Amino acid sequence: MKEPEEFYEPEIETISREAIGKLQLERLKRQVKRCYYDSEFYRERFDKVGLKPDDIKSLDDVEKIPIVTKEELRQEQINHPPLGRYTVAPRRDWRELHPSTGTTGIPINTIWTQRDVECLTQWTARTMWSFGVRSGDIIQNSFSYGLWVAGMSVHYAAARLGCFVLPIGATMTERQLDYFVNPGSTAMVATPSYALYLAERMRQRGISPDQIPMRLGAFGGEGGTEVPATRKKIEQGLGIDAYDYYGLAEIGPTCASECKRKVGIHWAEDHILVETVNKDTRERCAPGETGVLVLTSLTREGTPLIRYWTNDYARLDFEKCDCGRTHVRAVGGILGRADDMIIYKGENFYPVQVEKVVRSFKELSDEYKIRLTTHERTGADVVTVVAEYIDEKTNTAEFKSKLKRALREELIVTPEVDLVKSGTIERTEFKAKRIEDKRIKD
Ligand SMILES: [Zn+2]
Repeated sequence: MKEPEEFYEPEIETISREAIGKLQLERLKRQVKRCYYDSEFYRERFDKVGLKPDDIKSLDDVEKIPIVTKEELRQEQINHPPLGRYTVAPRRDWRELHPSTGTTGIPINTIWTQRDVECLTQWTARTMWSFGVRSGDIIQNSFSYGLWVAGMSVHYAAARLGCFVLPIGATMTERQLDYFVNPGSTAMVATPSYALYLAERMRQRGISPDQIPMRLGAFGGEGGTEVPATRKKIEQGLGIDAYDYYGLAEIGPTCASECKRKVGIHWAEDHILVETVNKDTRERCAPGETGVLVLTSLTREGTPLIRYWTNDYARLDFEKCDCGRTHVRAVGGILGRADDMIIYKGENFYPVQVEKVVRSFKELSDEYKIRLTTHERTGADVVTVVAEYIDEKTNTAEFKSKLKRALREELIVTPEVDLVKSGTIERTEFKAKRIEDKRIKD
């Protein structure tokens, strides 16, 4: 028997696979009906492939529904401003507008209704509980507030859990450190790159991890926490337990997180239907196979998305976790973004692999960049990994070739290496931009 303390909502978190399937099917059918009858956007897409809501009789039937991409939502919004016709809830039910961050183009607007706020507050409270937040904790909410989704969801959920919230957002770095000490935050959320920056500043200010009472944090909004070297740096730098957190504006913030076992991010499957599909054929992957995450909002009222192509790679495990939770896990977190794939000399790799290598060297800082340029003479692509040395003495040809060898081992190809002084690469309070594309385009 697991102690009841382990779960926030025991009945739903430890539900049998059969029962969660039943609940998902019921909610999927309802969602498909709403979308078909209340949204021209969805009706057109269903009609195009000759699909009617009643054709969805089992969870497997979801495969018959066309996948929707961010580009299609963007186009829909341009054709039918301001929100596109995928906003299903009537205007009187709208409560909050939250655009996607727009890191890859014009932001996509999404709408939260009152019920959406209620659902995402509940699942965020559940995820926060799963990595150990309890009533009485002082939460330093260093996710961006306002339009970005995660600041708000953590804020609402912290209140629900009975926590004391410091609504600072991803800003005022020195003040963040002051709050670490007094009133002494006990838990925090941030992007992993900002957490590393805070750890770096803490070291510079001479505050040691055992001077602050913080015991845990969850980090998301970009990759990083799932990389063992990065997680270790956050944990040691801040003296805490670090957990991986995932969400996206289009589907919902903070909807998947690690439990205490740190064996993949658990999804809130009562709210979201999770699939992985092959990048090229778009056919569904078998459990354990890596594919692009495709998500369906089962309970979302405002802007429900059916089979949304996230561009994120994951590998799903539907087996019950050692923690007792039965909801599906993405093992190893997000494995990369389909957009970020770099093709070099016939091999492909992801920024996260470079991160793994750079952060395994204690001679280097946590920051890095991947610079793409065009070779002046040959016109070929050149990939250069820019990393920062902590001590000038590291800047030697010998160290460079050591780094190159380690990169080659991980990436199969050998990039160029450029070492710069610590502090040269721009620090970020939001999402780190790792790829700098300076290639000459024809
Ligand atoms: Zn678990």
